[in-house]
Amino acid sequence: MPNYQRVIHWFRRDLRLTDNTALSEALKAGKEVIPVYILSDWKRNHHWTGTGRQQFLTGCLESLSEDLESIGGRLIFRSGDAVNELKKLVKTTEAEAIYLNRDPDPYGIETEKRLLETCRSIGIELHGSKDVVLHEKDEVLTQSASPYRVYTPYSKTWMSLSKPDPAAKIKKFPKSKTLNELKSLSFDGIAHWSLKKTDTEIPEAGEKAARKRLKNAIESTVLTRYAQDRNTPALEATSGIGPDLRYGTLSPREIFSQSQKLLDDTRSKSERESIFTFQKQLAWREFFMAILGHYPEVLETDFNPKWRGLKWGDPDEDNKLERWQNGQTGFPIIDAGLRQLAATGTMHNRVRMIVAMFLTKDLHLHWKLGEAHFMRHLIDGEIANNNGGWQWSSGTGADAAPYFRIQNPWTQTERYDPDGTYIKKWIPELAEVSPKQFRKPAESSAPLSPDYPLPMVDHSEEREVTLDWFKQHKASSE
Ligand SMILES: Cc1cc2nc3c(=O)[nH]c(=O)nc-3n(C[C@H](O)[C@H](O)[C@H](O)COP(=O)(O)OP(=O)(O)OC[C@H]3O[C@@H](n4cnc5c(N)ncnc54)[C@H](O)[C@@H]3O)c2cc1C
Repeated sequence: MPNYQRVIHWFRRDLRLTDNTALSEALKAGKEVIPVYILSDWKRNHHWTGTGRQQFLTGCLESLSEDLESIGGRLIFRSGDAVNELKKLVKTTEAEAIYLNRDPDPYGIETEKRLLETCRSIGIELHGSKDVVLHEKDEVLTQSASPYRVYTPYSKTWMSLSKPDPAAKIKKFPKSKTLNELKSLSFDGIAHWSLKKTDTEIPEAGEKAARKRLKNAIESTVLTRYAQDRNTPALEATSGIGPDLRYGTLSPREIFSQSQKLLDDTRSKSERESIFTFQKQLAWREFFMAILGHYPEVLETDFNPKWRGLKWGDPDEDNKLERWQNGQTGFPIIDAGLRQLAATGTMHNRVRMIVAMFLTKDLHLHWKLGEAHFMRHLIDGEIANNNGGWQWSSGTGADAAPYFRIQNPWTQTERYDPDGTYIKKWIPELAEVSPKQFRKPAESSAPLSPDYPLPMVDHSEEREVTLDWFKQHKASSE
């Protein structure tokens, strides 16, 4: 164990004091620890993020700052290029090492590489820990030591590996004159990014709120009825911890270990299966992170080379993209999902799949357009999961839905929102319409409501167009 007078802990996507691997290591190795968060310095219209997510991040940072102060610490804010800012902070504080939790995204990896070079050049140590995932990309490999490209065998290996236990909450921070006297940028919330607060009803942010969400999932029926209820968007039947995993207000170790305790204490076969299904969702998250780690090109192009070069449609034709984004397609389930996203910064998983397939298979628009819209609006916007979800739905990704399996929005409505509760919640102009009307296209002679559009396309016709389009592309590239 190294022994330093003073070290820096760089908070990134680990905004918590409980079970924070690198922070615990920093506190063991350093007599004094300088905790820092480096704000990005882009302004307003960054292509991949939006106000809701920055509001949530602001809440997480405020809460972390208070939590640190309550145990004798203090969160230092800086803004700008992380490597430059850390270099300056090392100089000011005379820190001997930097501690961080590794970020599996390509941008995070790139920054870590640059930081390592800088640390070497100035003669200090850099310590990185595994924290964002239970198993990093090179821990879950096939027998021939190559990455999995298909989820089921990946998840079997992932499940078979022993899971690290969570560590306790940090209760005390060492006294440090350097930390007390250090200048910090005053953080003015979302104004820092030149953004204005919106009406988006975002979830409560911070470690305490995250722990409440996890406790609720464990103590209510969310996990024990997960397999039966998770596909019903009208129910609050999923955990809602996506944003907490995104910003690290909960650790995946803690989530897995609490779900495992519940599993061990549960006798009922169906309840056990449900908890197991929930755990397998955590494996989906790490599968997509591993795919992005091994094949970072998926951010630019289709994972499956067979589908590269497909000729996607024009988003401006008949304002297709805009109508989809604004929830004005005339397909109630699609519009409800997109309006839920605009109002709350989230969308139910089942509906994410339906709207994604609609954009790519009914409107024939590139999955990247949907991916960008989701990243701007989703509070749990996670590069790997989002890219994985979009490429899955468009049929171009790792272990994706085959191109000919095209979900029918009308039958999906019948199956997952049979009494129209979800649709009515998000489309008030349809509140008085019989739910049976949501399961088939409205005729121009009988619109659902004077304020609600007719379906912008004919699903059966567009389905045939897509089948033809994919078949032709396949034939031309063989
Ligand atoms: C087109 C599309 C885009 C998506 N974009 C994102 C995204 O940006 N960020 C994101 O976290 N998830 C994304 N997902 C996956 C999934 O929709 C969300 O993780 C889930 O809805 C979050 O709700 P929850 O926290 O209540 O999840 P729960 O159902 O309670 O699951 C618990 C956790 O498991 C993980 N998980 C669950 N389902 C999936 C899945 N299908 N793929 C990967 N991880 C999963 C998440 O971390 C989730 O928080 C996307 C799915 C699709 C189809």
